Amino acid sequence: MNPELLLSRIRVVLCRPSHPGNIGAAARAMKTMGLRELCLVAPKRFPDAEADTRATGAVDLLRQATVVDSLDAALAGCVFAVAMSARQRDLGPPVGAPRESVARLLAEAKQGPVALVFGNETVGLSNEEVLRCQAAVTIPTDPGFSSLNLGSAVQLLCYECRMTAFAGRPPLGGQTVTPFASPLATADENEGLLRHLEAVMTATGFFNPAQPGRLLPKLRRLFSRARLEKEEINILRGILAATQTGTGHGRKG
Ligand code: SAH
Repeated sequence: MNPELLLSRIRVVLCRPSHPGNIGAAARAMKTMGLRELCLVAPKRFPDAEADTRATGAVDLLRQATVVDSLDAALAGCVFAVAMSARQRDLGPPVGAPRESVARLLAEAKQGPVALVFGNETVGLSNEEVLRCQAAVTIPTDPGFSSLNLGSAVQLLCYECRMTAFAGRPPLGGQTVTPFASPLATADENEGLLRHLEAVMTATGFFNPAQPGRLLPKLRRLFSRARLEKEEINILRGILAATQTGTGHGRKG
């Protein structure tokens, strides 16, 4: 199934969010990853200027967001829901890691709408809310500090959704630029550079042809590893030629 279509079937549900800033951050996190459907269960303050500020370019998602008063209402029409929880519950659904659970979520999304359910900033999801979901995800963290900011948790899961929907290779965003590259130098051009360097090193006294040691093979190895481009050879030979001009041994032709 088309990855964009698959992503459009994922509903992000925020249960009883306290801080409108986090709602805005969640909207922005979603939009950057191609998710669009935000559902808020009994938000403390919404709509709110703080949410708009934190959403920046994703205010459209806030305007389209649905506001309901229970998780049951938020999950209407969904075929599968994942509870996001930093804490393990003794009677909850099976807990998985983000990547494997997102694979399941997207497989289920082929059947119909699915949901990622996030809890309140202070108390998280209630046990009843977790039990409304068919799977649970705990983001692995440092054991001593396991609670991510709500917006960060949404970002991380949306990223995993995008990576999985595009089979690990989503197209890059932003402006595409063609990286500068000149054609690779040929064997004779590399050889020309080495000979030129040898002449300058000899003239400056750095290299003694009577006692060559392993200097030339080492330089050859360096240039072969660098895989120089034609233009780079020209720059280096230009520098060498300038040195020769300075010492009265200018390069001819
Ligand atoms: N103190 C709360 C955590 C609140 S963080 C608690 O103990 O549950 C707000 C929400 O972000 C959580 O309800 C959860 O949905 C999500 N979240 C934060 N850290 C998470 C983690 N390590 N794994 C999974 N979800 C997490």
